[in-house]
Amino acid sequence: MSVDGKVLALSGGVGGAKLALGLYRTLPRDALMIVANTGDDFEHLGLAICPDLDTLLYTLSDKANLELGWGRRDETWTFMDALEKLGGETWFRLGDGDLATHVERTRRLAAGERLSAIMDDFRRRLGIAARILPMSDDKVRTRLDTDRGRLDFQDYFVRLRCEPIVRRIEFAGADAARPQACVVAALADPALRAVVICPSNPFISIDPILVVPGVRDALRACRAPVVAVSPIIGGKAVKGPTAKMMGELGLPVDAAAVARYYRDFLDIYIADEADRGAVAGLDLPITLAPTLMVTPEDRENLARIVLAAADRVR
Ligand code: GDP
Repeated sequence: MSVDGKVLALSGGVGGAKLALGLYRTLPRDALMIVANTGDDFEHLGLAICPDLDTLLYTLSDKANLELGWGRRDETWTFMDALEKLGGETWFRLGDGDLATHVERTRRLAAGERLSAIMDDFRRRLGIAARILPMSDDKVRTRLDTDRGRLDFQDYFVRLRCEPIVRRIEFAGADAARPQACVVAALADPALRAVVICPSNPFISIDPILVVPGVRDALRACRAPVVAVSPIIGGKAVKGPTAKMMGELGLPVDAAAVARYYRDFLDIYIADEADRGAVAGLDLPITLAPTLMVTPEDRENLARIVLAAADRVR
């Protein structure tokens, strides 16, 4: 596969998918490869659920539920309502349309197909020209040591609404996980245009991708510029537990701390204009930009700023 002019993005769910969509709409149709976190994946009601992959799938095919921030828009809930009446588990909401994704994925995994092949087929069927790749086809599961004991990721994130205090994060299975060969090859290819670390949670969305053996080393050695967009705006997270976790893990809660967290492979940092003071002391190229993505235009504007910053140092 030729990677000439291609852009590789590392993404979690909601925050990452916003910029991934901007990049997708800005770049030539097949120029984007997205590596998604699968540390949030879990088995629930007998189904294989991949929240970040599906957020990317729905976002890039214009099916995402923007009000909820997860799942599909125009969703119906007959399954959940019926399950509730039977006394089933309903803390993790699965809409009727969304359910089809999980049922079909589970069936194909049980038949022996790789997750990457299934997701590649799904994205083609939904008309997406970008590649959407799980970070590994091997199982990696994020677990958190908290003040309420050791928690599986979705117990922490959804059932307990990120309330527990996080002390340590572990990625079970990561040591034995193999990265996608095409991702490692793209990172080693001098024709790669840029690597974009999307504004995702560094600890539970980007770290799981980085700990897959070979990925971090490939990023460090990569000749293409590695650009990260801050998930912190004005010293706060837009949504989710990023800022809360930074405090709990003993980091300063500001945009600079995210850049320092990525320092071993980062070439350029895109921070919000509101964080000018916070990032002033960093010794790497900084681009200040409006990084809050509300409208489709915001996403595309930020994508253009990211690509221009990368092209300037290439
Ligand atoms: P999750 O897997 O669904 O939690 O999503 P991600 O990890 O991809 O994204 C969560 C992060 O995205 C949080 O730290 C948010 O602060 C950040 N985020 C969400 N929306 C925006 C935005 O519009 N701009 C920026 N810069 N960050 C955002």
